[in-house]
Amino acid sequence: MLIKDCLFCKIIIGEIPCCKVYENEKILAFKDINPVAKVHVLIIPKIHIENTGQRKYIDTLGELLLSTDAIAKKLNILESGYRIITNKGKDAGQIIDHIHLHLIGGEPLNPLN
Ligand code: 5GP
Ligand code: ZN
Repeated sequence: MLIKDCLFCKIIIGEIPCCKVYENEKILAFKDINPVAKVHVLIIPKIHIENTGQRKYIDTLGELLLSTDAIAKKLNILESGYRIITNKGKDAGQIIDHIHLHLIGGEPLNPLN
């Protein structure tokens, strides 16, 4: 369920501190250490899932997406809007192999292209 040398698993068990903004039974959300916008939060499942593509994790993956409005509301950006990004693999720049959504907002964001 959790992996010994995974940074985000360590955050889940409290071995590495984080600035928590939200949690429920299945997910944890905390501020990104290197924010790219005024609001930049990472949302992770409380079990170690490397990335998308495995049907057996459909409930947990769904939970990640369902949580974003509650988190945005807590951060007062539900009305103004936000962007969700997940990086998969080398070309996308995934550096941590524990799936995470980047929730970004708090200011107007640049268009994707
Ligand atoms: P990725 O590139 O894998 O999609 O994103 C990983 C994110 O994790 C990066 O935005 C990076 O700033 C963030 N990050 C890396 N190490 C830590 C940490 O120790 N604590 C927190 N809160 N964020 C981290
Ligand atoms: Zn992990």
